[in-house]
Amino acid sequence: MTQAFDILVVGAGMVGAALATGLGQNGFRVAVVDRAPAPRFDPATTPDIRVSALSAGSERYLQSLGAWDHITRMRATPYRRLAVWDETRHPLTDLIPRKLAEVQFDANELGAAHLGHIVENSVTQQALWQTAEACPQVTLIQGHGVSSLTQAGNSATVTLDDGSELVASLVIGADGAQSRIRDLAGIGITRNQYDQQAMVISVRYQGAVDDITWQGFHPSGPRAFLPLHSAGAAHPGESWASLVWYDSPDELARLKALDDSELMAALQSAFPACLPMLTHIDHRASFPIARQHARHYHSGRVVLAGDSAHTINPLAGQGVNLGFQDAQALQAILREAKRAGDDLAAPEWLERYERQRRPANRRMMLTMDMFYHLFSNRIPPVHLVRNLGLGAARALPVARNRVARYAMGIDEELPPVVRQITARIPGLSQL
Ligand SMILES: Cc1cc2nc3c(=O)[nH]c(=O)nc-3n(C[C@H](O)[C@H](O)[C@H](O)COP(=O)(O)OP(=O)(O)OC[C@H]3O[C@@H](n4cnc5c(N)ncnc54)[C@H](O)[C@@H]3O)c2cc1C
Repeated sequence: MTQAFDILVVGAGMVGAALATGLGQNGFRVAVVDRAPAPRFDPATTPDIRVSALSAGSERYLQSLGAWDHITRMRATPYRRLAVWDETRHPLTDLIPRKLAEVQFDANELGAAHLGHIVENSVTQQALWQTAEACPQVTLIQGHGVSSLTQAGNSATVTLDDGSELVASLVIGADGAQSRIRDLAGIGITRNQYDQQAMVISVRYQGAVDDITWQGFHPSGPRAFLPLHSAGAAHPGESWASLVWYDSPDELARLKALDDSELMAALQSAFPACLPMLTHIDHRASFPIARQHARHYHSGRVVLAGDSAHTINPLAGQGVNLGFQDAQALQAILREAKRAGDDLAAPEWLERYERQRRPANRRMMLTMDMFYHLFSNRIPPVHLVRNLGLGAARALPVARNRVARYAMGIDEELPPVVRQITARIPGLSQL
């Protein structure tokens, strides 16, 4: 069977489902296909192991799609404060006042109601599937992967693993970091594996949900504590949280081999004593982390968005926020192309999308890499500079707040002076 659409979105993860909804709401006939079944939310279940810090910018976008209300009706935790500190122990540490190694960002000082929300990925994805399903222009196809792609004349044809064919003027690859569409379109990538991996652990802790998230920077990698929601009547007085522990592959292999009680002991000694007391480990998973960038964002009738185009170090949790920015830019450009009566895959429109998004994605990649190298470094002068830097960040609220607004997705650009510095860093143009 062959079905025809204006646009075919491959991958209905957070980015693909958002794009399908936005394009459908703008009058395009869209098919969105995902090899996984539809995500389901059950308030009685324990939290999804994958959670994301959604920025205020992403919240605005999800509101415009009508998905935000679905999210808050399920589960979302706003955070108003973010505490960041440097945990490296070194002889010079004792010469530096402790407070220089700590910074706290507060939404009040940034002129924002909150810094962001911690949301389970399955909740965001399900809210977006609901908005997509409510849009008569959108056809959702679940449980089928892509087998092949052909491009001829003014259309592209995608064949699914059940043999059915979907024909469209444009195919959007939103199928994640291992994108099959990217491979089928012959688009290469540059990839750098970091020396760290991430372990995410769902835990319960003693106490109520507070509006602060914590991130400690150790030379072996950051460790973060993200409060989620109350554990309910089944566990009175307890709440859920997501812990993220970045470390070397060897150390992560050791942690993975521990049973729950041994891992609990490791967590209690590795995370600061000022954090709430952990009571239970529910689930854990580990992720390799890599910086990856597609060499081109488009080729022929294929264009990429989200993780299929770029992955970044998740240490400041910006991956899906960048993906949502791709989605908004692509939606706006395709709307213009349609209004002009042009072919949706005309290179000048897709090139305009790449010109908008590549430098912005590259800038965030570089900002994350600067954090990664700065905090993974054990060399004393770097350690000193780093602490003085955090101290300066405390002392210079205006500069600090401008960078924080960018990192939190409240502003979409770095302050001009920081932009000029990043633009001069060698190697940026190869990212
Ligand atoms: C440890 C960790 C923590 C993170 N924390 C944050 C955070 O706090 N904030 C943040 O913004 N980002 C965070 N990220 C990054 C974020 O998870 C990703 O950027 C985001 O999931 C990318 O969304 P996506 O829709 O582009 O791709 P994906 O989520 O990978 O979705 C791709 C979809 O495509 C489907 N698919 C794949 N192949 C096919 C195929 N052949 N045919 C059909 N369908 C297919 C999949 O089933 C999936 O549904 C984190 C990442 C990690 C590893």
